[in-house]
Amino acid sequence: MPKTEGELRASVRELVRQEVEAGRIIPQSNSWSIHDAAFSRRLGQAGFLGMTWPRRYGGHERSTLERYVVVEELLAAGAPVGAHWVADRQSGYQILHHGSERARAEILPRIAAGECFFGIGMSEPDSGSDLAAVRSRARKTADGWRISGSKIWTSGAHHAHYLIALLRTGGPEAQRQGGLTQFIIDTRQSGIEIRPIYNLYGGHDFNQITFDDCWVPDDMMIGEEGSGWDRVTGELAFERSGPDRFLTTFPLLTKALTALSDSAQCAQAGQLADQDAAQIGRMLSHLMALRTMSGSIAGMLEQGEQPLVEAALVKDLGTAFEREIPERLRSLLPLEAMLGDERSLAHQWGMTMLQAPSFTLRGGTREILRGMIARGLGLR
Ligand SMILES: Cc1cc2nc3c(=O)[nH]c(=O)nc-3n(C[C@H](O)[C@H](O)[C@H](O)COP(=O)(O)OP(=O)(O)OC[C@H]3O[C@@H](n4cnc5c(N)ncnc54)[C@H](O)[C@@H]3O)c2cc1C
Repeated sequence: MPKTEGELRASVRELVRQEVEAGRIIPQSNSWSIHDAAFSRRLGQAGFLGMTWPRRYGGHERSTLERYVVVEELLAAGAPVGAHWVADRQSGYQILHHGSERARAEILPRIAAGECFFGIGMSEPDSGSDLAAVRSRARKTADGWRISGSKIWTSGAHHAHYLIALLRTGGPEAQRQGGLTQFIIDTRQSGIEIRPIYNLYGGHDFNQITFDDCWVPDDMMIGEEGSGWDRVTGELAFERSGPDRFLTTFPLLTKALTALSDSAQCAQAGQLADQDAAQIGRMLSHLMALRTMSGSIAGMLEQGEQPLVEAALVKDLGTAFEREIPERLRSLLPLEAMLGDERSLAHQWGMTMLQAPSFTLRGGTREILRGMIARGLGLR
């Protein structure tokens, strides 16, 4: 494993370069939604998953900043990291800090090896933004818990080995946020039905799940009974602040800028038109500001803080930025966005246009984030 951050960055770049050259991966935007189990396994073998976790659980005891460097490089390169994304970004942290010893010992080494994938079981058919209105229920029995209810929009559930689901455990006397608990649910059991929901471009990324009297053992509870609200809000700080919230369309931007600088007009003029250069400069300066903000939140998370408002700010600004890139390219590129050859700029641009509306919805909508920011600033 490389020693310095510079060496680490170079080694991720080299790994991706070899993967692309061998034709094993095709760089794409929104690559943290692209499932490639074999690539995740190779990242695990290279020591790039579970990086901050203790060695006894399969981790590598590297710093949060070092993990940030690896994640940032993979996203910027458009590498298909979707298979392990949720497990490595947030589920592993939940298990390490709030899971039972059995969950840690059995699950974390498999995540770090790139062989175990997770889904996020938060949203329900009647409660997406309003998480405290969750109705799916876990009922205590002699041998554990029985689960019934439904989750929706669950990304990658059809590939996931487990979900971490937020469920209602308290009776009617429990307050909305007080009667919730998180559980690790094994998806490979009877009583679970995972049905696809097809998105705007006809792809199958997310699902609706129904639980009909499924079973969860006691030691697959996250934290204490009734601690679900604290656990889920802590998890959202990880989900909302990382470089995945502003680098989703960076591979499209770099591909477009390369094409632009190679284009005949540019070569003849010897430089970009002033207004084009100003647009590109503006995008890159926003990117640098977002990167600084996201990096400082990574530092706060490492100190054990829960920077919820700061994470909401990064996600709100970052996802608006990554949505803006395909729009801005309209006035910069001398071609049309069009689906066709997967490797072409036109295709990647067209695909990004179809994916972009989801960027500001997944992980919490802009309205909800702005409400949190307003409350954090004392405006509500
Ligand atoms: C691509 C994608 C992947 C996703 N993956 C997952 C996943 O893996 N797991 C998971 O659990 N969920 C997932 N989601 C769900 C996502 O978190 C929800 O869609 C989101 O939180 C909004 O919930 P909703 O769809 O129920 O909309 P609603 O909550 O019904 O909101 C509808 C509209 O009303 C607005 N609104 C709602 N409440 C308020 C309020 N109090 N103030 C102001 N405006 C408000 C919202 O901003 C939105 O514009 C995913 C969503 C997408 C698009």
